Amino acid sequence: MSKFWIGDKKGTEDLGTADLKSLLQLYLLQDFQPRKLIMTEDNHAIGIDLGTTYSCVAAWQADHVEILVNDHGNRTTRSYVTFTDSKRLVGDEAFNQVGRFPANSIFDAKRLIGRRFNEETVQKDVKCWPFKVIEGPADKPLIVVNHKGEEKKFAAEDISSMVLAKMREIAESYLCSKISAKNAVITVPSYFNDSQRQATIEAGKLAGLNVLRIINEPTAAAIAYGIDKKAGWFNKRNVMIFDWGGGTLDVSLLTIGNGVFDVKATAGDTHLGGEDLDNRMVNYCVEEFKTKQNVDIGGNAKALRKAKTACEKAKKALSFSFDTDIEIDSWYKGEDFHTTFTRDKFEELSMDIFNKCMEPVNKCLEDAKMDISEVDDVVLVGGSSRIPKVQELLQEVFKGKELCKSINPDEAVAYGAAVQAASLSGNVTGKLQDFTLLDVTPLSLGLELVKHDSSELYMNVVIPRNSRIPVSKTTHVTTVDDYQESVTFSIYEGESKVAKNNNFLGEFTLHGIPPAPKGVPKFTVYFDMDANGVLSVSAEDMSTRQKKGIKIKRDRTK
Ligand code: AMP
Repeated sequence: MSKFWIGDKKGTEDLGTADLKSLLQLYLLQDFQPRKLIMTEDNHAIGIDLGTTYSCVAAWQADHVEILVNDHGNRTTRSYVTFTDSKRLVGDEAFNQVGRFPANSIFDAKRLIGRRFNEETVQKDVKCWPFKVIEGPADKPLIVVNHKGEEKKFAAEDISSMVLAKMREIAESYLCSKISAKNAVITVPSYFNDSQRQATIEAGKLAGLNVLRIINEPTAAAIAYGIDKKAGWFNKRNVMIFDWGGGTLDVSLLTIGNGVFDVKATAGDTHLGGEDLDNRMVNYCVEEFKTKQNVDIGGNAKALRKAKTACEKAKKALSFSFDTDIEIDSWYKGEDFHTTFTRDKFEELSMDIFNKCMEPVNKCLEDAKMDISEVDDVVLVGGSSRIPKVQELLQEVFKGKELCKSINPDEAVAYGAAVQAASLSGNVTGKLQDFTLLDVTPLSLGLELVKHDSSELYMNVVIPRNSRIPVSKTTHVTTVDDYQESVTFSIYEGESKVAKNNNFLGEFTLHGIPPAPKGVPKFTVYFDMDANGVLSVSAEDMSTRQKKGIKIKRDRTK
């Protein structure tokens, strides 16, 4: 029995507690106007695709997934937050004000979330953004805005939480005013590391959401594809999801069959997306303006913002036509800018980015030990996958295979997340009840150890990348010095053989080890990764049974 409301955006009616059958009977007896009917429980589980440039929210409704439309009538919402003199705007409203408040309009929070200020990619991005980012405590990047006459600093997860809260608000207003959409599945790029995942969970909590699960974007898209094709319930198919959005590229290979979505391998780049293409075009325009007008507007936030909007529009147009005009009125000191951009020119400017997109495709095939002939479907997801050159390169890798464009590239991830949300909260009916998701860890996890007979430090992999999650693994280690009193366990993620070149996750120390020559004490180290991809590590001294461990936390430095 669940509590149900019935109605639409204009009004709702409390139907009290009912089971679905009696609710439907009641509905049939009522003489409803032919307006859109929504039935739902009073606490709905939603799926949120928290994108770099756009976000999308969806919910399972009786027997299907519905993409929830925002108050501007859009099915996707800009991942923007703008601080005006008097208000804080989020979503499409925020995007509409970027021209007026370029230094106070924050976007790309997903490119900062869970990262350190001094990372190379962050430093590169900071130079391109019209808003200010400074180094906070523990190397954490902080976004600085002026709001209501005061300087305010926000972490990336604060900005993401505002976007998530907006998505929840869209869901609640679309479903009906009395519904709480608190329970959510949020998607992240499969290549997000532990710290980026934890920061996303934190953003969800700050938005007042109960984060049921964090799932990988391509896996969510595969669920949408499986349901669309009913592939989840017919013979097994090997499916490659190529998901290229505004900020990230994700490639996953899954075997789908009998309701099981089994991820075989995943690869990607958390810093490669449509935004990079926009920036290339903006730089081109800035250079052209410099040549024509002898003025460098590279440092002018307002002018760069105008160019970015114009270039993104042109980029999208070039997916469907061979040339387009970029026109920016009063770009600088009343001077207009006009140029014709051809698809050839766009491809020439971006070819290295397009080629880079094929690297994870090959890596994923290699990791899954799958030949291209074994891949049944290559499915395009994400707005940037509409670019013809990328499709051409992908087709070349697969020796001319037809690419699958049947699912909506902007909505598939939220769609899949909504199915998973409904499934986790026990709200799905029919075939979906048999739905199982088997995902993998994107990066290898391990300990820093010293090589025998040398002082060289290396990465001892405990959980190899592409291991099925949840996963528990153990390893055994000993001391390197005689009569060592304590041992420190340093945990890293990444593929380099040198631990220091990987991402440092955290460390802890076992003290009070009974005196013994080196190599005698024995420690068992336990690595446990949960279904969200969040890691806990502990170590046990086998002689004293003393045990210590940590749940890997964010805000760490080394
Ligand atoms: P997503 O993160 O999947 O919402 O993708 C957003 C990215 O896709 C943005 O960088 C958009 O500019 C880009 N995009 C959307 N439509 C197109 C298109 N028709 N051609 C090229 N890029 C597009």
